[in-house]
Amino acid sequence: MPKRIFPFRRGEADRTADAAEALGLKGANLALLASLDLPVPPGFTIATFAWREAKGAGSELPQALRAELRSAIDWLEGVTGRRFNGDAKPLLLAVRTSARVQMPGLAESVLDVGLNDRTVDVVAAELNDAAFAYRSYRRFIESYAALVLGADPAEFEEIADLDRERAGYDHEPETVAGWRALIARYHEHIEAELGAILPQTPLEQLTAVVAASFASWRNPVAVAHRHLQGVPENAGLAVTVHAMIFNERNQKSGRGRAVSRDLASGQSRLSGEFTLGARGANEIGHGAPVHDLSELAAGGQDGFPADLAELTRHVRRLEAHVGDAVEVDFMIGDGALFLMQSRPARRTAGEAIRVAVELVAEGLIDEGEAILRIDPASLDLVLHPTIARSADLVVLGRGMPASPGAATGEIAFSVDRVQARANEGRPVILVRNETSPEDIHGMHLADGVLTIRGGTTSHAAVVARGIGKPCVTGVGSLRINAEAGTLNAGVRVLKEGDRITIDGSSGEVIEGAAALRRPALTGDFARLMQFADRARRMGVRTNAETPAEARAARAFGAEGIGLCRTEHMFFEGDRIQAMREMILATDENGRRAALDKLLPIQRSDFTELFEIMAGLPVTIRLLDPPLHEFLPNSESEIAETAAMLSVDEAAVRQRIAGLQEFNPMLGHRGCRLAISYPEIVEMQARAIVEAAIDAGQKTGSTVVPEIMVPLVSLRRELDFVKERVDEVARLVMAERGRRIGYHVGTMIELPRAIVRADTIAEAADFFSFGTNDLTQTVYGISRDDAANFLSTYVRQGILERDPFQTVDVDGVGELIAMAVEKARRTRPDIMLGVCGEQGGDPASIAFFEETGLDYVSCSPFRVPIARLAAAQSAIRFSRASGRPRARRHDA
Ligand code: PEP
Ligand code: MG
Repeated sequence: MPKRIFPFRRGEADRTADAAEALGLKGANLALLASLDLPVPPGFTIATFAWREAKGAGSELPQALRAELRSAIDWLEGVTGRRFNGDAKPLLLAVRTSARVQMPGLAESVLDVGLNDRTVDVVAAELNDAAFAYRSYRRFIESYAALVLGADPAEFEEIADLDRERAGYDHEPETVAGWRALIARYHEHIEAELGAILPQTPLEQLTAVVAASFASWRNPVAVAHRHLQGVPENAGLAVTVHAMIFNERNQKSGRGRAVSRDLASGQSRLSGEFTLGARGANEIGHGAPVHDLSELAAGGQDGFPADLAELTRHVRRLEAHVGDAVEVDFMIGDGALFLMQSRPARRTAGEAIRVAVELVAEGLIDEGEAILRIDPASLDLVLHPTIARSADLVVLGRGMPASPGAATGEIAFSVDRVQARANEGRPVILVRNETSPEDIHGMHLADGVLTIRGGTTSHAAVVARGIGKPCVTGVGSLRINAEAGTLNAGVRVLKEGDRITIDGSSGEVIEGAAALRRPALTGDFARLMQFADRARRMGVRTNAETPAEARAARAFGAEGIGLCRTEHMFFEGDRIQAMREMILATDENGRRAALDKLLPIQRSDFTELFEIMAGLPVTIRLLDPPLHEFLPNSESEIAETAAMLSVDEAAVRQRIAGLQEFNPMLGHRGCRLAISYPEIVEMQARAIVEAAIDAGQKTGSTVVPEIMVPLVSLRRELDFVKERVDEVARLVMAERGRRIGYHVGTMIELPRAIVRADTIAEAADFFSFGTNDLTQTVYGISRDDAANFLSTYVRQGILERDPFQTVDVDGVGELIAMAVEKARRTRPDIMLGVCGEQGGDPASIAFFEETGLDYVSCSPFRVPIARLAAAQSAIRFSRASGRPRARRHDA
């Protein structure tokens, strides 16, 4: 039979292995403090088992529990030298509920159980303080009535107000007779209005309070929290009962919160605050001045009502035991110090890193432990970009700084638009009048959020802070014109797709893409990253195509480029015209002529990337998207393109219509383009090989490019493209009289490629899992249209999370594992990576570690997150499996 009651006192505590589960957070914590010989008030915890046995019943406690309660009280009477209902030194108790996780909605603490019409006078005499004793009794009656009898606290306030008017005192009765009269009114009210009486027997009071505390498990707020946190309904709560500490009694009493460290510096130095007791009638519960503990600690003991050195010693002892900065709630009753509760010190993301690094330096924890202490997602908060200030910034408006960091991106008025643009790898700012839960998916995908309405606690602000996205709210000077699809700032009119910059730290909204500056990754941050790099097995690369992205990624520690989407290089300046010329050409010669214009552009782009990456691996993907994405949309662009090509506008329109596809993402794209138009592959292969030779010569480091074929489902598709690449490479090397190494591999993003991974691997030097397309094709869900209904799926609990963000382990994940196994069977040394969005998602990274991939590749700003998440995954994997895994490849 599991134990129902667990007693504790300084130096002695019955503890169970699953302490929090059995004793609740408070009970487990007090037991821990007691077992470390730290001063805690003596008491006992009624375990969750007893709650389950009582079926959480409200009114009557089971007989067995009542009997054990009686024995526990006997024990407590012995330990404290006080007696329930005693004629001298009556025992008074505090009753507190807690569950295994923080759970708002459970019963509030009830203090001074044991006071009645008689013991109140005994306490008054003992302390020589009638006002204190009666104030406590009054508070007890009020909490008892609220918890046990369901009374509204306002009723008692009304009675007290009436009494004050009648008796003519200021705050509270000034004589014992006055107090007695007030208490008598309370009793009358309970009898007349609540149909009950306040038990005068302390044990009866205690059983009623425990029973009502049990019942608070069913409070709607607690129920809602359980659902949110996934706590089972029968987990139950624990009730901790301990001797009262008269911390509000006199100038030698008080309460406070002590933190073991100065979190800003990480140094071991007591900080926190305290207030003195002796609250007067006019400041019950609040208003007492707060003193800074760290000032006191620096300057001596003055004004602190207990032994400060003793407090410091206790907090240090606790910190050393848990190996983390701790925060302790303490109480002081007439000079005697008690620790009431402790928890890991609450800290900001930056402080968490500071403390973890410092604890390693002090030898309190090892590097692995420090790595596990930091939430990878929190790095986003530390790495907030700021706007590089310049004179020509055009400020469109100012709102509330709702979530810190600056972001720049295209205006998107809808979640659909955000999703579509983000899928293309473009930065986006979601711009709404206000956001609602339907927008959360879009907020995740967007780089920043701007709302016209709302303040710092609006939905947008709360969600953005939660997910670490820059957010500006309440920019009243801006207006969304939904019909015209514009954002109006006075006379300035911006369209969807135009770029803006928001600064969630200042509240500014700026026209265009302002230059952003990232904080230097030095000091503690760099140390943490060093720890992570030593611990991780997987390489971390980046998805980058512009020199700026590549440089940023290197600064963040990327070990190569895992995905260079060449199509992004075709959009700027006159490139797009050459691209359009190629697409609109009616024969191969026409296409080759246009490709000749693109060749030098691509070559110089690649050369620059290779130079920046200085010999690190660079994976360049051959052209992937359907061609219509490059064609003009607006009438003016159509006219411009027609003029440039010296053809009729009608002919351009006709060609555009001809390229329309019903399902472009399942259409003429990826390697299918290469097979229809091998000359495109030839141009790209030439540009890559020539650039590798050029960059190798310039920098002196060997460049071994990785050429990646997208959207392969058949081995023969890969063979076809690889033959073209090999032929061009041979030619270029002969022309240049230089030899270089290069690899040809493929993206794995279609189910057929998974099934045939063994055969495809025979022809591929590497695989890179494109989890964006793979998720789309495995689910049969369009990545561009999913936002419409995926949020409903998540809300309804049909999906736990968006499978485009975090790998769906059971479905898509299982397929990835299958492909890994098959590929290694036919080609044991094949390099395996992932370059879909999930490459930067910590939960997905854990899965990729388990699957044994060689690297993940993610957007530049997620590289530090991926480094840390990869380290955590490696540590957890080797702890769970009992064996560390070696790296198979460099990167
Ligand atoms: C993918 O499909 O996961 C991928 C990385 O390619 P893209 O997003 O460019 O289709
Ligand atoms: Mg893809």
